This record gives sequence, C-alpha cells and structure tokens, in this order.
Amino acid sequence: MPTKKWLEEHKEDRRKYGRTWRMKMKITVLSHYSLHGFPECVRCGEKDLIVLCLDHIDGGGKKELRKYPSHAWYSKLIKESFPEGYQTLCFNCNARKEFNEDLKREPK
Ligand SMILES: [Zn+2]
Repeated sequence: MPTKKWLEEHKEDRRKYGRTWRMKMKITVLSHYSLHGFPECVRCGEKDLIVLCLDHIDGGGKKELRKYPSHAWYSKLIKESFPEGYQTLCFNCNARKEFNEDLKREPK
C-alpha cells in the first residue's frame, strides 16, 4: 500500500486517476514494487502514474502481459501477496532496458 504521506500529497492525482478500481490496483501494486512506498520508477524516480508500469526483472513480462490484461495481472499479484521478481519502471527506463537486453541477444 502507498504511504499516508504519498496519498496525502497526491490527492489531486488520485481524484483524477483514482476513480476506477483498476487505477487503485495499479497504485497498490506499483507502490509495492517501488523503493519508497509510493509509485515511482526504481531507476530514474519518475512519479507520473501515467508512464509507470510494472517490469518483470528477468524479462518475460511481455509474455505474461499477453496472457493477462494489465489489470488482471495486478489483481493476480495482489492475490499472490506480491511475489518477487518485479519492479516499477517508467516507459523510458523500460524501453531502455529492453533495448539493452536486445543488444545483449545480438549475435556477435
Ligand atoms: Zn524511469
């Protein structure tokens, strides 16, 4: 769960985005997989909920995402009491990570 301080500081955002149970689930899950108890990219510190997403640390997120729509994935993680192996990233850091992983896979 996000910290009280974060919830207090993001009243406006939560009014804007927090109407739907999907967004509430996203905030809960991304908070858990961030470093400071609120949704934040673990690499660059980006806090904009719109660009934050959950990353599968060892890769394989795309496969999992294809299997589940993101909200179903979030609710699955909550039901499973937040298994390890995930982190919160922004789209930029996520794209950079994928790019670097693709480079590693390139044949030499
Ligand atoms: Zn980032």
